[in-house]
Amino acid sequence: MAKLGVFGYFSKKMLGWTNSSVHITCVIIKLMKRLLLLKQTNSPVTAHLYEHMTMNALKRLACKADLFKQIDYFFLGTNYTKTGLITIDIDLYTDESTRLEKSLQNIKTPITEETIQLAMQQIAAETEQIIVCDDATKLKHSLNTLNDKAWQSLETADTINTTNHLFKNENIKQVDEPALTVDHITYALTGTLPDDDTLKPLFYYLTSAIHSTVADIANHQLGYYETSRSFSCHGNRAMCTNEFAAMRHLINNVELERSYHNIIEKIIKPANLSRIIGRLKSFSYTNGTLDTPNIDLFEKNVGVIIGPKIWQNLADEGLITRLLTNFKLEQI
Ligand SMILES: [Zn+2]
Repeated sequence: MAKLGVFGYFSKKMLGWTNSSVHITCVIIKLMKRLLLLKQTNSPVTAHLYEHMTMNALKRLACKADLFKQIDYFFLGTNYTKTGLITIDIDLYTDESTRLEKSLQNIKTPITEETIQLAMQQIAAETEQIIVCDDATKLKHSLNTLNDKAWQSLETADTINTTNHLFKNENIKQVDEPALTVDHITYALTGTLPDDDTLKPLFYYLTSAIHSTVADIANHQLGYYETSRSFSCHGNRAMCTNEFAAMRHLINNVELERSYHNIIEKIIKPANLSRIIGRLKSFSYTNGTLDTPNIDLFEKNVGVIIGPKIWQNLADEGLITRLLTNFKLEQI
């Protein structure tokens, strides 16, 4: 029987509903630049760990640059459990995020006990299983080898055979652990809207941007894992909730709330408001790029679909400021 997490708790089981770990998004926006990066390893658990470590490195860069998810960028990390393939999809929507292109396309992660443990904690929250590892030195070596390998760009890649690369006997695996307790925490941003539907899409868009940005911060700083988002409106009280999972001993809602307040305070600054307005005005469904609010998602969650004409009307600084300054945060 393998020892329990050499580095602590750690991750993956995409049992059942999917064979890849897809990190959920809400809205897709005006795309200025897209990088699709690939790496492959022969261990699916190591691949999942490395995918999380890479995503953490990306999120650290975005956070340091004061960028907002969905307004400036969108990152999606996927690992394919049957093949050990990792894909990192990096979408950059603004000049501010495009400036990071070079650092992002050559992204490497520090390989330390702390960075490995953080990824293991995130994966525990995500999958409710732990990663166990018999040989920490071997694991670090595999991660370093993977880190030294250059990312392939899909743009220039030759045919990639994704099958028949996996080791049969790994020294790292993912297992159930009765002592593991994962808590689920839900935070809501609420506000008052007019009786009609006019501001629902804008409310959902802005609250989603805040939730997504905070989720990236809570993920790479606290080990929280974002699990779902929902919108509801009763009378004129609108609410957008975000659910997180985290290992019980890592729960730190004081810090999470501080992140929410920081992001709300930052997003109201004039330079950031003008980026939001630029994004809203840029939406188009006819230019062939998937860079607009997702119609299915808005229909399902908000019950309202709007096109570029209405988004342009909503791209109003006063209106956006009023909404942002009236959001209330509450734990549910
Ligand atoms: Zn994952």
